[in-house]
Amino acid sequence: MSLLFIVVDSLRADVLGCCDGTARTPCVDRLAASGALFPRVVSAAPWTVPSVATMLTGVYPHRLGLAKWEQPWPAEHPSLFDLGARAGLEVASFVFEPRYFLRAVPAAGVAGSSQHTERVLGWLRERRDRPFFAFVHYWWTHIPYVARATTVPAWRKLTDVVLDAIRAGGPAREGVKALYRHAVERFSEDWMPRVLDTVDLDRTWIVLVADHGESWGERRGAAAVHDVFDLHGNDLFEESLRVPLVVRPPGGCTARRVGGLARTADILPTLAELLGLGPPPPDIDGTSLAGCVRDGRDAPAADAFSVRNRDFLQAPSLPRDARDLWCAFALTTPRHKLVWERSESSRHVYDLASDPMETTNLSEAHHPNIDAAWKRLEAEAERAVVGPVGGDDLARTTERLRALGYLE
Ligand SMILES: [Zn+2]
Repeated sequence: MSLLFIVVDSLRADVLGCCDGTARTPCVDRLAASGALFPRVVSAAPWTVPSVATMLTGVYPHRLGLAKWEQPWPAEHPSLFDLGARAGLEVASFVFEPRYFLRAVPAAGVAGSSQHTERVLGWLRERRDRPFFAFVHYWWTHIPYVARATTVPAWRKLTDVVLDAIRAGGPAREGVKALYRHAVERFSEDWMPRVLDTVDLDRTWIVLVADHGESWGERRGAAAVHDVFDLHGNDLFEESLRVPLVVRPPGGCTARRVGGLARTADILPTLAELLGLGPPPPDIDGTSLAGCVRDGRDAPAADAFSVRNRDFLQAPSLPRDARDLWCAFALTTPRHKLVWERSESSRHVYDLASDPMETTNLSEAHHPNIDAAWKRLEAEAERAVVGPVGGDDLARTTERLRALGYLE
């Protein structure tokens, strides 16, 4: 038994064909039709690092304290990598740049770049008959949506071109959205079939999920788009947080479209149960949705927390005070979304059922359920921490990343 865990960067749920989206994605749709599709999953964070860390630990980002690429993950929270290795799976990760993402997470076993598809396929082919856990962070749906390998300087140049087009607005911005859809289609129709042809689908669990969604300046105006963080990272709206999740068991099963609210924090306990990886670590925030995968029952009506950190990517270190790091918290309930911008003392409440675009702030309205939800949100914010940072090491790493061209 093996596990192929694919995180598709910036993949909005509402773009996929199987989620009634506008992209042509028959391969992903077929995958979803032979497993459990969770069309409503709330990501714990609107950008890659805190989001991926939560799906692989079952712990919310503000409790992990991770907000920089180069941070090690806190040792007190074992990850799915640890569980997989303990269960005898050969663990390997393919990320967009091995010198960057997960470099400080030895348990991830970074084995190469996901941008070299042939190498990923070669690794999978060699282990076709052996138990493995491959984590693949698919990158080409991320801005600049070019669906091919780029060097870091080329990536930066192309990204600037696409950001300029978004800022120009009008047809140029629409062109960017078309480019994004095309990148999603290339993922589904070019990359996925090759990967699915390589692994033994009768003995491999396939998980497909996104780390966050994407936006193109619709909320604050295109002129407010300064960098990538303004497309995903700087807000907690649905377009940034709602992601798709597919869990396909070995051999497939009849299509299961799972209703209710699921969370990326639920992924670790779900897979631990389904794959028999042993009990999930204590003190996690997620709960197992294995029953939903097995028989299609609705996800239990849980609340989902999501958090936003201030952008410290360019900074050599993180603040000591968690309040300076975690600046906004959201609580999604089956009906409502509450957002607390703690740094601005502003509160927003949206009725997701009647106002899915989150345009009307109902924060002045009082309802016992909402008042209780605010209390939960405030209590959750008290748990926030700043995670491990490497002190001088972190500063040195930041300098190295700057030299590589990742930072300005
Ligand atoms: Zn991402």
